[in-house]
Amino acid sequence: MSAYVSAFELFSIGVGPSSSHTVGPMRAAAEFAARLRSTRALEHVASISCALYGSLGATGIGHGTPDAVVAGLQGLEPETVDPDAVRRAWSDWPDGQTLALAGSHGIPFSRDDIVLAPRTRLPGHPNAMTLAARAADGAVLVEETYYSVGGGFIRREGEAPRVAAAPVPFPYTDAATLLALCDEHGITIAEAARRNEEALRSDEEIAEGLDRIWDAMASCVNAGLSHDGVLPGILKVKRRASVIRAQLEEIKAEGHRELPGEWLGAFALAVNEENAAGGRVVTAPTNGAAGILPAVAMYWWRFLADSGLGVGNAVTPHGELVGSALLGFHGHAATPAEAAGWDDAQVAEANRRRGIRRFLLTAAALGSLFKNNASISGAEGGCQAEVGSACAMAAGGLTAVMGGTNRQIENAAEIAMEHHLGLTCDPVGGLVQIPCIERNAIAASTAVTAARLALRGDGTHYVSLDTVVETMRQTGIDMSTKYKETSEGGLAVNVIEC
Ligand code: SF4
Repeated sequence: MSAYVSAFELFSIGVGPSSSHTVGPMRAAAEFAARLRSTRALEHVASISCALYGSLGATGIGHGTPDAVVAGLQGLEPETVDPDAVRRAWSDWPDGQTLALAGSHGIPFSRDDIVLAPRTRLPGHPNAMTLAARAADGAVLVEETYYSVGGGFIRREGEAPRVAAAPVPFPYTDAATLLALCDEHGITIAEAARRNEEALRSDEEIAEGLDRIWDAMASCVNAGLSHDGVLPGILKVKRRASVIRAQLEEIKAEGHRELPGEWLGAFALAVNEENAAGGRVVTAPTNGAAGILPAVAMYWWRFLADSGLGVGNAVTPHGELVGSALLGFHGHAATPAEAAGWDDAQVAEANRRRGIRRFLLTAAALGSLFKNNASISGAEGGCQAEVGSACAMAAGGLTAVMGGTNRQIENAAEIAMEHHLGLTCDPVGGLVQIPCIERNAIAASTAVTAARLALRGDGTHYVSLDTVVETMRQTGIDMSTKYKETSEGGLAVNVIEC
C-alpha cells in the first residue's frame, strides 16, 4: 500500500490547541454521536459517559479535550465549528444542563460524565477514549473506543488505520521509492503528489482546496499578529507576536531594511498563540507544530516569491516543465488568459498561489513518510514526531519553491529532521504553550537553514531521509513515556506553575 496521505488529510482546518487532544477527540465524539443516529439508538439514549485514557487523561484538561468531547457529542465538527463554541464547552458546563446529543436529542449531562484516567493505557495507542451511551435503566446501548493517532486522525477500535486507501498512480513506501518514481517519470515530488491527488479529485478541486488551506493558514498568521493579551490557562503566558509585529513595522517605517528572519519567527509565534488560544488553526501536520509550515510559506510569500529565484526556475529532473498550469507547474509565468486580463498585482498573486500549492504538495508527500513510517504524534514519538516532522516538511516545501531538485528537497527534509531527533514532549501545565510556541519559531528558522544548506549542495548527502525517519521511529519507541505528551517529565516538572 502506498504511504501517500492526501494533503487534505494532513492539512485539515480545525481548532486549537491540539490536533491529537482537541481535534481528534472532537471528531471521535461527533462520529460516535452520528453512529447513535445512524443505528437508531439515539432516541433511546438517557446518558453518556466518556473516559479519557493515557495521554488524553494526563494533559486533556490543558489541551481542551473534555471541551472538545462535549462539542463533538453535540455534532459539531472541527472544520466548521465556531472556535468559541468549543473553548469552554465542558469547563463552563452547568451540572445537569441538557446536552443536545447529535445536535437534537436532549439528555442530562454533567462535567463528571467525563472521567480522566491518565494511568490507564490502552494497547492500541497512548491517546485512547471510550464513549458509552446508556438507556434509562443503565444498560449500555453502544460503547466504542477511539484512538486519536496524531494530526487529528482517529481510529475506532477494531477498525483498520484510516489512511487514504484509494489506489494512486504514484505509490511509494519510502523516500527512495518516491525519488526513483519521480526519476522514472521525469517529474517533481510536487507533481507526483498532484497526480496522486488527481486520483481522488479534479485539478480545479485540488487548486481550490489548497488555496483554502493556505487562506486559513494566512488568516491564522494575521490573526495572531494582531491579537495581544494573555493566553488562557494557569501560566498566564503573554502573547508576543503582535508586539514583535509592531516593532518590525516601526523599524521599517524609520527607513531601515526589512528583517525577514525576525518576521519568520513572528509568523510562527502568531499561529501557535492562536492555537493556544483555541482559535482557528490548520493542522500541519499537528496543531502543536502548526506554526512552522505557515511561517515558512509566509516568509517565502512575503520575502522570496518575487526574488526571481524559485518557482520559475523549478524544472523536472529532465529539464522540462510539466503538469497542470493550474498548479503552477508551467513555471513562474501567468497563463495567457490571466496575462491578458489581469494587472501586474493579480498576476503576481496568481504566481504566488501556484508556489504555495507546490509548497503544500511537496510537504504532504514528505509528511506522508513520517506519518506512515514513524509517527506525527507527540504521545507516540515525542516532539520529534510533531515539530521535527513539520520542520522537515517545511524545509522540503521551501526547497521546492526555491527551485530545488527532488534530491535537494529530500536532503533538506533529512537535515531538518536529523536535528530534531530525540526531542521530547514536555508541555508545562499540560498546555500547548511552553515550550511549544517558541519551539515552532526555532523550527521555522531551522527549516529555512536546512533548505539553504540543501540548495547549496547537489542533493548528494550521507544520511538518507529514510534512515532518519527510521531513526526517529526507533527513538520514539525508546523514549520514556514521561516525554510523550504526559507532562510527567522535562520542563513540565521543572518549571513551577504559578
Ligand atoms: S512539546 Fe511538542 S509535541 Fe509536545 S505539545 Fe508541545 S509542540 Fe506538541
